[in-house]
Amino acid sequence: MRDDPATKADALAAGRRPAAMAFVDLQAQRRRLGTGVERAIARVLDRGSFIMGPEVVELERRLAAFCGARHVLACANGTDALILSLLAGGIGRGDAVFVPTFTFAATAEAVVLAGATPVFVDVLESSATIDPASLDTAVGRARTLHLRAAAVIAVDLFGHPADYPALEAVARKHGMMLIADAAQSFGSALGSRPVGTMGDIVTTSFYPAKPLGCYGDGGAVITDDDGLADRVRIMRLHGRAAHAPEHSCVGLNSRLDTIQAAILIEKLAIFPDEIAARQRIADRYAAGLHDIARVPTLAPGARSVWAQYTIRLRDRDLAAARLAALGIPTAVYYARPLHRQAAFHLFPTVPGGSPVSDHLCETVLSLPMHAYLSVEDQDRIIAALRSA
Ligand SMILES: *Cc1c(COP(=O)(O)O)cnc(C)c1O
Repeated sequence: MRDDPATKADALAAGRRPAAMAFVDLQAQRRRLGTGVERAIARVLDRGSFIMGPEVVELERRLAAFCGARHVLACANGTDALILSLLAGGIGRGDAVFVPTFTFAATAEAVVLAGATPVFVDVLESSATIDPASLDTAVGRARTLHLRAAAVIAVDLFGHPADYPALEAVARKHGMMLIADAAQSFGSALGSRPVGTMGDIVTTSFYPAKPLGCYGDGGAVITDDDGLADRVRIMRLHGRAAHAPEHSCVGLNSRLDTIQAAILIEKLAIFPDEIAARQRIADRYAAGLHDIARVPTLAPGARSVWAQYTIRLRDRDLAAARLAALGIPTAVYYARPLHRQAAFHLFPTVPGGSPVSDHLCETVLSLPMHAYLSVEDQDRIIAALRSA
């Protein structure tokens, strides 16, 4: 975007020098990390244990300690983490799995790939996470379609934890498994509960642009349930327990590369610092923008890693264009609810539709957010939005 000649011309015409600004600045983080990552990779190359090497076990131990969960099982990516969780929960054909319609496609995609039926639910206006009341209504809809209400996947959108106390009550009432899609929220918390301890099972992603990202694809399943953990452990290795003579079930190949585990061990060490920096940046955005846009707020007791800093504006497209002309990148997460996209439009939705999701799709705008965003750059973004 920053090399687009039209963008440069616009910025020059506006009398400003187009300076490069990243939406997520992984190079700034790399400078902070120093040579630790290169040395960690070199150790893996020297040992040659590229699949399920000792760094994978060590990373799982450190992630479990970080979030206070009994089991962390690393896998290939956050989408596989969802598929593994559904398979481990015995969910498949004839089962309804309730998902918010305002989320990334992977949440619903995993349900379809597991053989179950996604049922789309609306989200809360306040946090953009799945609405427990809409969920309760959608359960009735699934029953009329003769589907078993089997599971809910709550998504901690933009880093903000879903309303787990309310969701746990609805899930219990209908005998459903509760899966937390924490691809955007590892490192967040709700009261005294770190993300990793909500629901029956939690999934996360280490995609490079996530708050805790590696340098490729990666993910993890997190649970306190010994039975679910055992099934995921077998399932990620083609359905065979380590050293077992036979394949006990049909699984998949979903392992985290040892190199990525070694990188994540280095990044996890600076993650608490980065979380604090993200909160400072979110506070500064809120102070500079609260009177001209709807800024995100935290539910009582909630802590967010701010995977995205997403404001709401009536003239979202105009603001995005003005910022782009000044060399400031923004993104729209998400422009269309899943149930209105070709891949998913034939699946059932909650009766009454998803008015909150529809409205969010028209008004959301995500601003540059990473732990290394400078005060100067942030002031530029705030000033640009104010003048737009
Ligand atoms: C990124 C993301 C995923 C998928 O993670 P991958 O590692 O890219 O497969 C799933 N759900 C949500 C909400 C995400 O943001």
